[in-house]
Amino acid sequence: MKYGRIWNFNAGPAALPLEVLERVHADWFNKGGTGMALMEWSHRSKEYDEIHNGAIGLVKRLLGLDERYRVLFLQGGASLQFAMIPMNFLGEGKVADYIDTGSWSVKAIKEARLFGEVNVAFSGKEEGYVRLPRQEELKLTPGAEYVHITSNNTIKGTEYFDYPDTGDVPLVADMSSDILSHRIDPAPFGLIYAGAQKNLGPSGVTLVIVRDDLLARANEGVTTMLSYSTHVEKNSLFNTPPTLAIFILGEVLKWVEENGGLAGMEERNRRKADLLYGFIDEQGGYYRCPIEKNSRSWMNAVFRLPTEELEAKFIAEGKAAGWRCTSTRGSRRRCGVP
Ligand code: PMP
Repeated sequence: MKYGRIWNFNAGPAALPLEVLERVHADWFNKGGTGMALMEWSHRSKEYDEIHNGAIGLVKRLLGLDERYRVLFLQGGASLQFAMIPMNFLGEGKVADYIDTGSWSVKAIKEARLFGEVNVAFSGKEEGYVRLPRQEELKLTPGAEYVHITSNNTIKGTEYFDYPDTGDVPLVADMSSDILSHRIDPAPFGLIYAGAQKNLGPSGVTLVIVRDDLLARANEGVTTMLSYSTHVEKNSLFNTPPTLAIFILGEVLKWVEENGGLAGMEERNRRKADLLYGFIDEQGGYYRCPIEKNSRSWMNAVFRLPTEELEAKFIAEGKAAGWRCTSTRGSRRRCGVP
């Protein structure tokens, strides 16, 4: 393959479109005739402003966000959002509902408990997280501040396509591993967050989308850097943002737009998922997807073999054939194929 690249199936940091990497590389040393590389530009310059606001505009356009939604570029990964959300919206006398669909939900719940009351409205733990909840199984709290979901469970391999109905209570979603991969109706969401390194660009920037009505209920007195209001008021320029990561994220968003927007991504991803799950299901149980059919992720397809010994053999033979496995922890075997 060009430049000796390989088929890279890592969940994240994930492969970026080659066209994007080439574009970024094209004027690496002297960006736009400024005589400077982009990461040497001032974040207060007019040139950077165009990149920053261009990327914000693209997020809004691609996701069909109306004027009530604010788009932020923060740092600290999705992991910091696990804490920032309850820090800003929970507190004494306030309750939030969390839906536990795997290890990322568990991490979000752990942080939220430090700041207020958490009601776990559903947990898939006992069943081994093989499916998402049905609406009638959810034990939602009337008047909760928000309902938190993990829209794609990167490790477990489940993904929502129909989101829980939470009435007037805003949905808060960790979309780290499926943002922009299919069309969504943003209406139920009060806040969406995603570390960039899977579907949006390089690591170092976290996309946060927050709606005005939820923002209006944010706690006062939150430390400056961890308050959403700070970053909304300053358009994510309160302090120095990760300019290079935001630039590359913007280039990925342009690529998404040029390739049919979210409808185009949905079509591509549906085709890939059909091919992969179709093959797994045709194997008559040799390769086996443990995830319930209507909860299966298009982003992370999980499959098992009849025994753990055969799984070890599969990995070993894959490696001998040139696979490069970057992680072999438990079921998280991620491979790149030359
Ligand atoms: N949520 C999900 C669904 C993830 O897949 C990950 C990363 N694998 C995280 C959160 C943590 O993201 P970060 O490394 O950006 O903190």
